[in-house]
Formats: sequence, structure tokens, C-alpha cells
Amino acid sequence: MGFFNNLGKKTTEATTKIAREAKLKMKITENKQKIKDLYMEIGRKNYENHVREEDIDINEFIKDDFSKIDKFSKEIEDARKEILVLNNKKMCKKCFAEINNDDKFCPKCGEKQTEEKTVLEKAEEKLEQADISPKNEKEAKIIKEELEQKNNQD
Ligand SMILES: [Zn+2]
Repeated sequence: MGFFNNLGKKTTEATTKIAREAKLKMKITENKQKIKDLYMEIGRKNYENHVREEDIDINEFIKDDFSKIDKFSKEIEDARKEILVLNNKKMCKKCFAEINNDDKFCPKCGEKQTEEKTVLEKAEEKLEQADISPKNEKEAKIIKEELEQKNNQD
């Protein structure tokens, strides 16, 4: 009984992972196109300004385009990171190569990989240091859930 239940659960997890990855990849493609369009828009505005020969500050016209590009680039970066996490991979901090999550050193450049802690792990560490231990399992569960929620908000 248990075996089949676990099997079902595993399959669902795998399907969710694939769907999530596909969604993230689509987001990356979309954002790349949006950035491309913005580059064109900036070029067009610059050229029109040249043709008009008016002494206006072009930066005022393209300021918003720049912040949009910043936003889309950040979203691409986040999506790439999430895809890595989904596949138990991470990025080398030095050469940005895709490496396994448990690699202690980068196979490409040899850089030592220091663990980047999540908000949840940091908070758990703090609790340990402060020597605050939950009185019972129920309380521990509530604290953990709160931390996880906080972690997901970042
Ligand atoms: Zn490296």
C-alpha cells in the first residue's frame, strides 16, 4: 500500500517540477524578447531625437525603458536560479558554471563553494544560538511553518 502511495507522490512531484521548469523557461524566452523590443525602442527614440535636431534630454525619454530592462533581466536571473535549484544544481560563484549542488569545489575553475544559507536556515541557526528551543513538537512545527512562509516571501 505504502509503496504505491509513495510512487504516486513521486510521480506528482516530478510532473510539478517539469511543469514549473517549462513555465520558467517560457518566462525567460518572453523576457528576452521584451528586452530585445526595448533595445529597439531605445534605438528608435534616439534616432528620432537625432532627426528632430531638438535639444532635448533623450535620457528622460528612455529612463523608463532602462528600468524595465533591469526588471526583466532580474526576472530572467531569478528564473535561471530556480531552474538550477529544481535540478539540484547551482552556479559557481566565480566562473558561473553550472555545477552540482553538493560540489564542494567547482569542477571547472576549482573555486571553493561556500554554502549560501536560506532565510530559513539562517533563522534556525539564530534560534539555536539564542538557545531558544520549542517546548514541544507542535510548537516547533508552528515556528518552522512561519519561517518557511517568510522564506518563500523573499
Ligand atoms: Zn567555477
